[in-house]
Amino acid sequence: MKSNLCIVLSSLLISLGTTHIHAQTGADAGAQVVKAQDTKGTPDGRADQLAAEMTFAEKVSLLSGGPGGFSTREIPRLGLPGFFMSDGPNGVRNPPQGVTPQACAFPSGAALAATWDAGMATAYGTAMGLEDRARGTCFQLGPGLNICRVPVNGRNFEYFGEDPYLASIMAANWVKACSAEGSIPTIKHFAANNQEVNRNTVDAQVDERTMHEIYLPAFRRAVTEGGVVAVMCSYNRLNDFYASANDWLLNQVLKREWGFKGLVMSDWGASHATTDVARGLDLEMPSGANLNLAKIQAAITNGTVSVTNVDNAVHRILRTFFAQGWLDAGWKPVTPGLALDSPASAKTALSIAEEAIVLLKNDRATLPLDRAKVKTIVVVGPNASSPDGVVPANIGGGGSGAVNPFTNRIPEARYLDGITRAAGSGVKVIYLSTPEPSEEQAQAPLLFARTSSAGEPGLTLSVEVAGSNAPVQIASSVQRNINITWQQGQLPFGVPTNRGATFTWSGILTPPQDVDFQIAATPNAVVTIGDQTVALGTIMHLVASKPVPILIKASLQANLAAGRGRRGGGGVFGQRGGGGERVLRVALTDLASVKNADAVIACVGLNRNVESEGRDRPFDLPDIQQQLIKSVSALNPHVIVINNSGAGVGMSAWAQDAAAILQAWYLGQEGGIAIGKVLFGDVNPSGHLACTFDKHFEDNPAFPYYPGKQVSGTNYPVEPYTEGIFYGYRGYDKAGKDPMFPFGFGLSYTTFRVGNLKVGKSGTNVTVSVDVKNTGKRAGAEVVQIYVGEQNCPEPRPLRELKGFSRVMLNPGETKRVAITLPRDAFAYWSSTTKNWKVDAGNKFTIEAGVSERDISAKKTLKVF
Ligand code: BGC
Repeated sequence: MKSNLCIVLSSLLISLGTTHIHAQTGADAGAQVVKAQDTKGTPDGRADQLAAEMTFAEKVSLLSGGPGGFSTREIPRLGLPGFFMSDGPNGVRNPPQGVTPQACAFPSGAALAATWDAGMATAYGTAMGLEDRARGTCFQLGPGLNICRVPVNGRNFEYFGEDPYLASIMAANWVKACSAEGSIPTIKHFAANNQEVNRNTVDAQVDERTMHEIYLPAFRRAVTEGGVVAVMCSYNRLNDFYASANDWLLNQVLKREWGFKGLVMSDWGASHATTDVARGLDLEMPSGANLNLAKIQAAITNGTVSVTNVDNAVHRILRTFFAQGWLDAGWKPVTPGLALDSPASAKTALSIAEEAIVLLKNDRATLPLDRAKVKTIVVVGPNASSPDGVVPANIGGGGSGAVNPFTNRIPEARYLDGITRAAGSGVKVIYLSTPEPSEEQAQAPLLFARTSSAGEPGLTLSVEVAGSNAPVQIASSVQRNINITWQQGQLPFGVPTNRGATFTWSGILTPPQDVDFQIAATPNAVVTIGDQTVALGTIMHLVASKPVPILIKASLQANLAAGRGRRGGGGVFGQRGGGGERVLRVALTDLASVKNADAVIACVGLNRNVESEGRDRPFDLPDIQQQLIKSVSALNPHVIVINNSGAGVGMSAWAQDAAAILQAWYLGQEGGIAIGKVLFGDVNPSGHLACTFDKHFEDNPAFPYYPGKQVSGTNYPVEPYTEGIFYGYRGYDKAGKDPMFPFGFGLSYTTFRVGNLKVGKSGTNVTVSVDVKNTGKRAGAEVVQIYVGEQNCPEPRPLRELKGFSRVMLNPGETKRVAITLPRDAFAYWSSTTKNWKVDAGNKFTIEAGVSERDISAKKTLKVF
């Protein structure tokens, strides 16, 4: 009976709505239409006035993205334009049509978090807001606020590390500053989207306490303190429901508990049902697959969606536009006079990059390099450079977060250029592009190669066509170098395109003196020296006058010749240019330069092709890179490794070989300059890890549960977050295990001492103060970290949790007293028993100060409340 009444009522409302659709006029037919700009009063009042003018169809149209999939919908009749959205969050990826797709490529979110500098988060947000305003972007699709739970998440680079407090501070400052410029940041991906594997299906099973303490705080602070008015919900399921259909997450927590007044949009294609609008979704992106008129009308008829649901979503959307001033007369999406290639943005990008670099190791004070002493530097590794005009792939991560800078910034982005510039004219910088040879290297004659011991210089080439005895005409069977190109769909030397062939070069290497050399080759070449197959990048030692046979084989299959090149990740062939040209190159590089150099800089790590949205990445660096570090370290004790990644990578296999290690995240378009300055000491590194670096992925507390598996009764993977709040450093502390590098860790070219901890109280605030002294000989910045722990808590609590921090700049010998305020909340936990936040008055708390989670130098244990 009750449900019948419901259906009758909703049908009545629909028929009222459809009257509007046919009339296509305002509420009172014949009355003057009130346009958006004519409305008066508060944003809520104005939203109601405009909604009252709308037909039902117009209202529903607002619930999904407009043409092109990156805007809200317009209703010209009511003076309502569409508002444009751009990714996000490391620069403007996709501006409105007609605007250059190039923009400032800022350092990644992980880099920002490593600065531990709230002021830098503000600077980042301001710069992003201005980049948006220069282009007409109204919604900035960022920042990303998911938590680094496992190092391999392909999108860690976009996020602010593992700790909810640090991430919250970054988030609140970023969004406040970006909003102040007039663009709306859209915090994403709400929530528990902590991996890319199975992101569209996985059900993250996370208990309420863990959600409140770990995975929600950055979102909450961005809303309650940062005032953000747009949230993007994620692809994954959370506790049985898709995030876009998660009543608990969207209605109860976000909208009711946090008092969020803005709009919730779906991630692109993340809405699965029309009922999502009843469960908290306001805007379906990129288009209305579910929130369209036909489906909404059907849902209202069957009682699963109400007209009030539609009205509420419309109100939130319109209110957001009004509150932003976007519907005020005279408002324009572009602020005139703002540069597209903005020097101010570039400056901000550089400052963030400089502060983000973390010095992980510095044996024998290898760094900084002294221009007066260092005469020759060798730079190696895949992340050192890029071909002319090509944006270096280690500028940032991949996917919707990938930003292309203006081409004039490419030299600033490249490490090699930055190192060369910082080195100055007195230092010789030699670049060995390994393991894939440059055109120039591949054109050089193969070192010491002869067709036989007393034969002519070069190697003998023979070609065997699969399934054929037909001879292949080669201009000369003796080749002095291996550098061949051919077109897609063909094979070299006129080999029939419907057949595969094996190309073999053979001969003898006889060096006139002892020599170390390295093989660089495109990936399809297999090189054998003596009786050993040599991995690319391996450094070989040959003894003077001792002949050693060499054999290079490349099997090229005709059908694969048409396949994707290696840069696309699919095929086995080298590819260059856009024209489908294929290459096969082999070079033998004399490494005397590595041995004799005063320092070797190995630029390794991941890049935007490897660490990207849509997939997770390996924990370990590619073998060839590990091999490279080991090889150069065997020749030279002064190897400095620069690693790019959005979170930890396996370092335990090679860290002991390196004299120094710098963690460089993704530093954006000014990364080369920042790296050069840090290497030569023009900038003293001050970054600290915002996530724990595991020795082995298996040590990570979440490892046993990642990436989830299908259980009976579901047709999608389920991932119980069994480690709960004991993930990251909280989990390492509980297990009593040592990580590779702890959360909060970062060295400097100077040394600091933190001590003299005092705790006071003012109202409900606890004030903690410490002395920080620069005990070394250089100016530098230290990050003081305050951790809180509770003794005898009735519910399990981590040993220590970050609750405050401050970055302090100090001259040599200088001491500063640093005061950090801990509000009552800093002592609270979310009680699974009372289902609310709780402070255990009368209990003792530890308050610790240190420079990493494992380097605590001052501590007090006391009753606080
Ligand atoms: C990503 C979002 C992004 C959206 C629009 C999605 O695939 O997950 O972060 O904002 O695409 O590009």
